[in-house]
Amino acid sequence: MVRSFVLVAAMGVLVTLSLASAFTHNCAHDVVMKDVKLGTIDVALDVTAGYQPLRVVSIYSTLPADIKNTLVEQRIQSFTDTAAKKLGVSVSAVYPAGPLKFFMAGGQCDSISVPADHISTGVSNADLVVYVTYMQTTVCDGADNKSSSDDAAAYAVPCLLETGSNKPRFARLNYCPSQFKEETTGSTVLADKWRGVALHELLHALGFGNDFFSGKFAKKIAFPVTGSAPERNYSEMRGSNVIEKTKEHFSCDTATGFPLETAGGAATVNSHWSKRFVMNEVMNAESTYAPLLSAMTLAALGDLQDITTGATW
Ligand SMILES: [Zn+2]
Repeated sequence: MVRSFVLVAAMGVLVTLSLASAFTHNCAHDVVMKDVKLGTIDVALDVTAGYQPLRVVSIYSTLPADIKNTLVEQRIQSFTDTAAKKLGVSVSAVYPAGPLKFFMAGGQCDSISVPADHISTGVSNADLVVYVTYMQTTVCDGADNKSSSDDAAAYAVPCLLETGSNKPRFARLNYCPSQFKEETTGSTVLADKWRGVALHELLHALGFGNDFFSGKFAKKIAFPVTGSAPERNYSEMRGSNVIEKTKEHFSCDTATGFPLETAGGAATVNSHWSKRFVMNEVMNAESTYAPLLSAMTLAALGDLQDITTGATW
């Protein structure tokens, strides 16, 4: 009964949103993850200080020269910084004992050359380093995005994981110019949506997605399962924190996990919450207005590192 009610309510609001929508961002996360070259680095942790606010350090020197000092650059930085700040107040981490040093043959993160000093001296005061780019790629064009004819607005992918824990330490976040140019209208509503896109992609950079949920990279995780109801190819995230939150959310003691997206195709399947259950939560597969970061997504982040309470990362 609860699920039926949610579905009806969701459909009503979705119609309203689609009329007001200037663009749709269908995430291409799984397509990108399929091709990324992943490495590992050793990271010593400073456990004496306990858990502290997560520090996502965004690198903007990887943006193209032709957008320097433009509104586009300003907005990219603003949206990304806002999203990183949101994560800082929502997620805790045990800090590395020193700078994070990039180490991968070729010195590239997802085909992006990293600054030389990130290899030699590393990046200080960082838990995750994100190289921000603005490139029209085939993924942006939708050529590899089997979920829809709509272009992707942005995508992110980790490239270096911490040895042992498989915690992402370096990642790339790419904004797609074909979609981002719409932001130059300066619309407050669009800006709100783009802040949600940035937060969504940073959460993927932190490991939210099928490859980590399924155990391919994470040490312990959720085991999506298939079944016949409530939708075809039903899957759910079964981390212990997520199960607890699901029970709470639906007031259902027998819940076994939270539903994952299975209808969107190869680009999104099992890497997002099912939109019919979460509406405008930031980790559904399409960008939305008024994106929310919920306890369910934070619980999933906690599960990625096998921590029993909170959104610790
Ligand atoms: Zn996504």
